[in-house]
Formats: sequence, structure tokens, C-alpha cells
Amino acid sequence: MDALSRDFFLFLSKNRGLNFMAKRWGKSLATGNIIGGIDFESCIPHIEQLNKKGIQVTVDHLGEFVMDETVARERTQECIRTIQTIATNTIQTQVSVKLTSLGLDISQDLARENMQKILEVASKHQVLVTIDMENESRCEATLELFRELKEQYDLVGTVIQAYLYRSEEDLAQLDDLSPFIRLVKGAYKESAQVAHTEKADIRENFKQLIKRQLNSGHYTAVATHDDYMVDFTKEYVRSQGIPKDQFEFQMLYGMRTKTQQELKDEGYNVRIYMPYGDDWYGYFMRRLAEKPSNISFALKGLTKK
Ligand SMILES: Cc1cc2nc3c(=O)[nH]c(=O)nc-3n(C[C@H](O)[C@H](O)[C@H](O)COP(=O)(O)OP(=O)(O)OC[C@H]3O[C@@H](n4cnc5c(N)ncnc54)[C@H](O)[C@@H]3O)c2cc1C
Repeated sequence: MDALSRDFFLFLSKNRGLNFMAKRWGKSLATGNIIGGIDFESCIPHIEQLNKKGIQVTVDHLGEFVMDETVARERTQECIRTIQTIATNTIQTQVSVKLTSLGLDISQDLARENMQKILEVASKHQVLVTIDMENESRCEATLELFRELKEQYDLVGTVIQAYLYRSEEDLAQLDDLSPFIRLVKGAYKESAQVAHTEKADIRENFKQLIKRQLNSGHYTAVATHDDYMVDFTKEYVRSQGIPKDQFEFQMLYGMRTKTQQELKDEGYNVRIYMPYGDDWYGYFMRRLAEKPSNISFALKGLTKK
């Protein structure tokens, strides 16, 4: 049943018609608990609140699979404006981006050019930008661009997904860059040809990736809501004497808020991924695929005035 509902929501996540209609409800959903707001300015009070509790943030302007060059350039400018706004406020936040929102599906050159513009401004203001990982068909291009960009700019990181068979090799290939890596299970529907599909196998690979990245001494973000993975990480760092400033836990905005605070109170670094914007549909469907009861977050948002 779980697998059925996961497939169903992942199928819906790609429906362009529903996405279009969802944008019209964006304002209502944005007042809810799963995104920071319809624009970056609306996120600022939420970021301040989290920062006050000692929790860090990474913000993501929602949107993906852009096929229009003008839109890709607008997304780039939005990201730059966000970084400039971060710099003029006292908030502690990084930025996350999806390369398909910056034109990766139009051309790799366009995505590179847009990322370079973003990273020029991010370097000036010392804001780290993490390139989210999208589906497997974009993985190679994403890692290629990440390598090129990381050779030019220090403050750029990316994501490795534990469900992909290729991930351990990818992590090994990136080692020379001393990369900042966010490790996740993986949110897209992938075939058994390229990805583990059993929960136990994904967890096992996740553990191997956590160990590898931490042992190599590089900064590691363990992004999960799964207590099993959180407990594994805690135990591993304790047994290996890995300092708490070499890694952080990351969770999505609105999910497991009590656990976020408990981790912070135990002295761990915690960062919250806060999406914003009206293009929330695909993001929200992937969250439903992970946990159908997440719908209650959205319903609260839709009924709140
Ligand atoms: C900060 C962050 C960034 C991410 N970036 C990317 C990315 O760039 N690319 C990508 O493909 N994916 C990304 N993901 C999504 C990720 O790949 C997973 O799809 C998602 O995190 C679900 O996996 P999980 O490890 O949280 O646990 P799951 O396998 O979804 O859940 C395991 C267990 O955790 C508990 N749990 C999960 N959710 C909740 C909840 N809301 N409330 C209470 N308990 C819960 C339940 O006990 C559940 O059985 C990101 C996730 C996070 C947290």
C-alpha cells in the first residue's frame, strides 16, 4: 500500500495541468506550515524565529524543469536578489537551487552561466549555495557542473542520494574537491536498474555514504527525518570521535519540529530546508509520497486566514 501511494503521488508530481492549477492556490498554501511563504521576504520572520533557537536554514525558491530561457534567467535573478537580501539582514541562512530551474534542461551552458552569476554574488556575501539533486537522468550533468563550479568557487555544495547505486562511486570521485555534501535517501521515482527500491537497502547505502563522507573529513549534512538514520549518525560520530562541527542534521521546514529542537538542545548543528514561492506543487507531491499524512500540513494552510 505504501509503495502504491508513493508511486501515485510521484506520478501526480509530474502533472503539468495540476501544477498550473496549484499555483492559483499558492497564496493559501503559503500561509501554511510546509513552505516559508510566497516570497523571500515572507520567510524572514520564520528564519529569524529558527535562528533564535540556534537553528540554521537553507532557503529554496520553488520551481523546476524550466524550459523557457527567460524564466530560467528570472529564476537566477530571484536567487541573486535572495542572496543580496540575506546579506542586508542579520539572518543566518544558506541557499539551495535546482539546476532545472536555472535552465539545465535547455542547455548545460545556460545552467552553468546562471550558476556562475549566482556564485559570484554568493562568494561576495559569503553565502553557501547547495545544488539540489534531481532525478537520475540529471545526475551526471549535475555532478559535472558541480565539479566545474567547485573548482572556481569555494562556497558551493551538492547532494548525493542513497537510493542510487552509483552514489558511493560518485562520492569517491568528488573526494579531491573536499566537498560540502548533503546526503539524502532520494525523493524521485527511479527504476530498479539505477536505484535501490527496498527501504533496508537504501538505509544500508545511506550508512555507507555517511561513514565515507565523515571519514574523509569533509563537512557532511545528514538530511533525514528517519530516527534510525539520525541515531546511526549519532552513534557513529561518537564511536569515531568525529567533532560536532564537522556535520549537521537537516530536515524540511514544518517536519519533525520537536526532533529538530531536541537535536539542537543535544548540541548538534541543525539546518532547516525552507522552500518558498508559488510553484509548490511538485515539492508538495513528493512530500506526500514520503508520508501521506503530510496532507494535514497543507489543509491547515488552506483553511488558515
Ligand atoms: C533538508 C533536506 C533536503 C533534501 N534535498 C533533497 C535533494 O536535493 N534531492 C532529493 O532527491 N531529495 C532530497 N530530500 C528528500 C529526501 O531524499 C527524502 O525523500 C526525504 O527526506 C524522505 O526520507 P527520510 O530519510 O526523511 O525518511 P522516510 O523514509 O521518508 O521516513 C522514515 C521514517 O521517518 C519518520 N518520518 C518521516 N517523515 C516524518 C514526518 N514528517 N513526521 C514524523 N515522522 C516522520 C517516520 O518514522 C518514517 O517511517 C531532502 C530532504 C531533506 C530533509
